Amino acid sequence: MRPPTLVAAALVLLLGAGVALFTLRSGPGEPGEPGLSAAAAAHPRLPEVRRTMEAFGPLVARTTPTAGGESLVVGHPDRAADIAVLAAELPAAVDAVTAVWGPGWPRTALLAVADGPAEFAGLIRATGPVSPELAAASVADPFRPGSTPTGQRVVFSPDAGRRLGPDGLATLLRHELTHVAARAVTSDAAPQWVLEGFADYTAHRARPAAFAATAPTLTAALRAGAGPTDLPTDADFRGPDAVQAYERAWSVQAYLADTFGEQAVPRLYRRLAAGQLDPAGEDAALRAELGVGRAELVAGWLGWIAARSGAAAAR
Ligand SMILES: [Zn+2]
Repeated sequence: MRPPTLVAAALVLLLGAGVALFTLRSGPGEPGEPGLSAAAAAHPRLPEVRRTMEAFGPLVARTTPTAGGESLVVGHPDRAADIAVLAAELPAAVDAVTAVWGPGWPRTALLAVADGPAEFAGLIRATGPVSPELAAASVADPFRPGSTPTGQRVVFSPDAGRRLGPDGLATLLRHELTHVAARAVTSDAAPQWVLEGFADYTAHRARPAAFAATAPTLTAALRAGAGPTDLPTDADFRGPDAVQAYERAWSVQAYLADTFGEQAVPRLYRRLAAGQLDPAGEDAALRAELGVGRAELVAGWLGWIAARSGAAAAR
């Protein structure tokens, strides 16, 4: 999950090659039965969202081939533009996640675009109030750690497309798909700097931008002499500085890739994401995986981001 304001904007081509559009409505010759197009109606994952979403109006669905099979994007006619962007971006987004995580995930996805807050809350199975800042969330059926999660879907809020624009939506898609790919080895209790930083690393890696463009609030803080002194805490991701917490978390992963090689990023994720860790636990895991302790990692990261923000300022 992440607020919508966190995604940097850039240009994107919205060409939906290989994407088929299916409108799900009653058709001729099938009185009393929804006349679904064959591909959409037969998609094995449509039933997971159909009943919930049909309560909010007629459905539009696009199928698109991704590395693991046919993926499905479902929404309503007035979100057709967002649905088109997501369907067009999906194959490349799946590949972008696989490039970092490896092929060990289904490499297909079910995406849903909500038409209003109630539908969004229902699709993400919210049990309490949903922040209007939340742009998207990925959810799964309950599962035992180590087993393959079922029922994974990425749900986009009604405002996500309007607030983020096409490229922001594509970045958000890669972020959420990273959560989907890594779900089987991920505990919700794991440190947020690991979970969200990894998702943002994969999201931005596919379209690299300057440090200051990817982490504008962090850059501003560093230039003002008000940069971080430690890794972001879980509370930081829910507080008023949540935007900077995400940027800090991304920058930790970018530092790891730059310093220890990109393979260290998913490797460390697998070790750190499995459960709750206090700083001592993080220290032991980092020493085992990278050969440096937490204090060394933080010092190295702080120096790296200081240099990056300074280099950006000098240009
Ligand atoms: Zn997230």
